[in-house]
Amino acid sequence: MFLENFQSSFTNILNKTSMNDLEFRQQVLDTKSASFCAAKWYNATIWLGSGQTTSCHHPPAHKIDDELLKTNPSAIHNTVEKKIDRLNMQLGNRPKGCEYCWKIEDMGRDAVSDRVYKSKIYPLEALNEAYQKPHQEDVNLRTLEIAFDRTCQFACSYCNPAFSSTWVRDIQRNGPYERLVSDGRNHFTHTHDRAQLYRFGETNPYVEAFFKWWETDLYRTLQELRITGGEPLMSGETWKLLDWFKENKGKSQTKLAINSNLGKEVDLDRLLDSIDGLDIDIYTSMESTGQQAEYIRDGLNYSAWVMNLIRLIESRKLRGMHVMCTINALCLDTLPNLLTTFMRYKQYYGQDFPNFTLNILRFPSFQSPLVLPPEIRNHHKNQLQAWLDQWGSNELIQEHERNHVQRLIDYLDVVKTPHSDTFDMPALHNDFKQFYQQYDQRRNKNFTKTFSHLTSWYDSIQV
Ligand code: SF4
Repeated sequence: MFLENFQSSFTNILNKTSMNDLEFRQQVLDTKSASFCAAKWYNATIWLGSGQTTSCHHPPAHKIDDELLKTNPSAIHNTVEKKIDRLNMQLGNRPKGCEYCWKIEDMGRDAVSDRVYKSKIYPLEALNEAYQKPHQEDVNLRTLEIAFDRTCQFACSYCNPAFSSTWVRDIQRNGPYERLVSDGRNHFTHTHDRAQLYRFGETNPYVEAFFKWWETDLYRTLQELRITGGEPLMSGETWKLLDWFKENKGKSQTKLAINSNLGKEVDLDRLLDSIDGLDIDIYTSMESTGQQAEYIRDGLNYSAWVMNLIRLIESRKLRGMHVMCTINALCLDTLPNLLTTFMRYKQYYGQDFPNFTLNILRFPSFQSPLVLPPEIRNHHKNQLQAWLDQWGSNELIQEHERNHVQRLIDYLDVVKTPHSDTFDMPALHNDFKQFYQQYDQRRNKNFTKTFSHLTSWYDSIQV
């Protein structure tokens, strides 16, 4: 899964505080410093295939020093870069990589950014300890998201070859996407071989360090472990870890979570057998419905996804089912329908079946909802407001869900550019059309048939 855009809030170990989100920011975080976020200490996303890490899915990933791993496997998390960011947060400076949060907070309107959600899940004492700890010291992780490799049967439009082996095959077969002027990081021009440093069967020192840290220490200290990918249920290392849990029943209190695209290829029988007796959450991604969803998430069979979702919920083996919605320019048309479907499921299966989060896509910028012309953006904003008016006070909607819908409405209303380094709008429009024209050819899709509400605007873009 493409983590830059995916939500990874560990919502199931929520700190029991009576404060609402804004009060928590003002009374717990801002009293330490104006930029304090516990994720820098206690949370990590680690890509073992590429040997990279970040503190949450928003800041860009950085390299792990493999020399340090020889004596300290916890160096897959405690990197020099994170230690400098910790110091900056203790001093109230804003690390640049955390721009996602600063942008939300700078909207005003008492906006609550992810640093609240990603700090609120830890005990207050742990937050105080992090704030006071000398920044050079190593910290034990409490929540960890890990990707073993990039094997994935999907090639979603907002993903790229660094996170999907199917995307790699698109570039190998058809060559680079051409004439994209805003693709400064070259997401769509090459196969990102550095994302997968070791071939199948070769020894990967980062994977080795993880299992070493896991078997000596992590299994005792980690509160929640989220396995992601690629599609993690297509990785042998995921099944190895699930086997560890099966063979060591009761040895670890770590709560397990798996991010899965729940595609029809996923071996649900094996999964249901493996998770028997485990405390587990499943996270999956979806942000639209039907053909539009299948267009955005290439490889998806929407009906199969729905059936897998329901089968897992009805197994009653899960602590929670979570749907992460990556908010992009193409999903807004059917997003309200999808959210209504989730509310209906909640009515039938309970408040956590499913939970949902709305995570606003920033990269690639030309797929941001902000590339849409003002009248279309305004239309979607009004649709979402109508949805919130209908469901916002329902007893089954959770506070973070209500806030996420509200912040998307505000985002569509107030924010004009996807991020500070973005290109101007004509360049983003050019790339929007250039990209989807090529995507249509390579993937046998049809933009204008699938998104008829965007056709006249799309046709008007000159490339
Ligand atoms: S401040 Fe925001 S972007 Fe930075 S680590 Fe915390 S949640 Fe992530």
